[in-house]
Amino acid sequence: MLKIINPANETQIRELEEDSASSIQEKFNRAKASQKAWAKTPLSQRLNSIKKFKDLLSDRKEQLASTLTSETGKPISQARNELNAMGGRIDFFLNHTEVTLGDEIVVNDPTQKLEERISHEPLGVVANISAWNYPYFVGSNVFVPALLAGNSVLYKPSEFASLTGLAIADALYDAGIPKDVFIPIIGAGTTGSELLKQPVNGVFFTGSYATGVKIAQAAAPKMVKLQLELGGKDPSYICDDADVKAAAESTADGAFYNNGQSCCSVERIYVHTKIYDAFVDHFIKTVKNFVIGEPTDDKTYIGPLTRAPQLQILERQVADAKAKGAKLLCGGGRIKRAGFFFEPTVFVDTNHSMELMREESFGPLIGIQRVSSDAEALALMNDTEYGLTAGIYTKDRSRAEKVLAEVNSGSAYWNCCDRVSPRLPWSGRGHSGVGSTLSTYGIQAFVQPKAWHLRLV
Ligand code: NAD
Repeated sequence: MLKIINPANETQIRELEEDSASSIQEKFNRAKASQKAWAKTPLSQRLNSIKKFKDLLSDRKEQLASTLTSETGKPISQARNELNAMGGRIDFFLNHTEVTLGDEIVVNDPTQKLEERISHEPLGVVANISAWNYPYFVGSNVFVPALLAGNSVLYKPSEFASLTGLAIADALYDAGIPKDVFIPIIGAGTTGSELLKQPVNGVFFTGSYATGVKIAQAAAPKMVKLQLELGGKDPSYICDDADVKAAAESTADGAFYNNGQSCCSVERIYVHTKIYDAFVDHFIKTVKNFVIGEPTDDKTYIGPLTRAPQLQILERQVADAKAKGAKLLCGGGRIKRAGFFFEPTVFVDTNHSMELMREESFGPLIGIQRVSSDAEALALMNDTEYGLTAGIYTKDRSRAEKVLAEVNSGSAYWNCCDRVSPRLPWSGRGHSGVGSTLSTYGIQAFVQPKAWHLRLV
């Protein structure tokens, strides 16, 4: 049985039956058997179901937000924000699937008696192994376009967001998605690896680099579409001409929103020496104003971490930074109460010998480092195995674009951070993953092109 724990008080909320090898096999068979008929249903019908799903998420917002908060500890206002943003994300897919997946005639030349055309076929049955930190976002980035494109989906929510995963399945069924076309699979890592033993036609994973490597190895012999959306160590650079207060407030939110448990959280900050002290002052003021407390309270900004083991990772990074000479300006340890609470923690005078500047913290911990030029900042921003997002704060657009063009990351932010747009591709480089979701790339990801060479008669 899978125990669902409330991270705010460590009590058990529910127990769920975990899938076994045989139930996964049976679910795969159902998904396989249903897929062709689903692909043949008119796109308009699939679009209607997804539109209805969107409406149901909105109708059920309070109940869904409360479930999400109970199992992940996400502050309720942030759980509502996640659900509120679903409308815009789903609208993008509703508005762009038909045109993106339509046939494209690239040549039609009666004189040569030649037509060349591209059509798009669904992959088949896809495995969607998902994370807990934004289960609505990272799940729907995969299953919404996958379903619209005519695939069946075996959806394994994270073991830390399983109630939300089941609530998503209920909403999809109530919206008209057949029960054999979208099938949740409940369990932890061993359940995920069991799922990958099935002959699925695509593997779409969101999670850590360490697990991503295992997923890639399991998927390799299948020779199927593989996408991995992994972690990050995302930098922000504050130039000497930046609006210092605005940059401090923006990056503090980028570092601490969702308790720093976002793949695109700001994880390290480089500040030009000319404005370093002023920036640090504003940053600390902002962090000290964050309301820490019960995640069910509307006013709470920092709740508990979702997973207990992350507390030790943060403690290790704190000890390492202290030992190597970083200066602790606030926080630094667990909060003495029930639940997985950790103080918002800020180090200054950090350097790249420290784990907190190199390894994903995925928690309320940030290091700030002084730099004296754009070139130095750029070299440090690129001194990482990860490549998800990077940001720069300056009044000078051409300066920003010059630096960002040289940063090896999938997303580039000018005067902003920790931002995702459904209109833009979401992709990582290096240890941050392969492939793209969102945008039209994130629709094409769920189909395979067929090239038609037609000799006209
Ligand atoms: P995780 O890697 O621990 O788990 C992710 C999923 O993989 C879970 O469903 C888990 O049960 C499953 N899993 C674990 N071992 C498996 C195995 N051997 N075979 C198959 N499945 C297995 O990650 P997490 O803690 O859920 O998420 C946090 C990580 O995800 C962070 O690194 C974060 O940066 C990253 N993330 C990335 C993005 C992105 O878009 N790039 C978005 C959200 C989260």
